[in-house]
Amino acid sequence: MPSIFTKIIEGDIPSYKIAEDDKHYAFLDINPSAEGHTLCIPKKEVDYIFDLEPSDLSELNLFAQKVARGIDEALQPIRTGIIVEGMEVPHAHIHLIPIYKETQRFS
Ligand code: 5GP
Repeated sequence: MPSIFTKIIEGDIPSYKIAEDDKHYAFLDINPSAEGHTLCIPKKEVDYIFDLEPSDLSELNLFAQKVARGIDEALQPIRTGIIVEGMEVPHAHIHLIPIYKETQRFS
């Protein structure tokens, strides 16, 4: 069965797209920790990010870096932080979370 994120890539579940290339997709998190909280995913469905081939992991990171630069330019946070996937969705992803003046890094 496809993951929720594969359904998003395929357009079966709507999402707010931030960026896309042939191998990756970036979209706003439905339950954001901060304005602009974005998820970057490989189109290839791999459950766990560290099971990606090293070259695929590297490309995902480069894609996330480009997306973070775009967030920084558009929303002007102090900077954009990165968190690697948690527990909920078994499809490799990177959270990009902008950090604003009024936002604490950790609570
Ligand atoms: P994690 O697996 O890293 O714990 O969390 C997965 C993230 O995916 C969560 O922050 C959650 O809000 C987000 N998420 C889960 N389902 C959807 C969805 O259908 N659409 C969007 N845009 N985000 C989702």
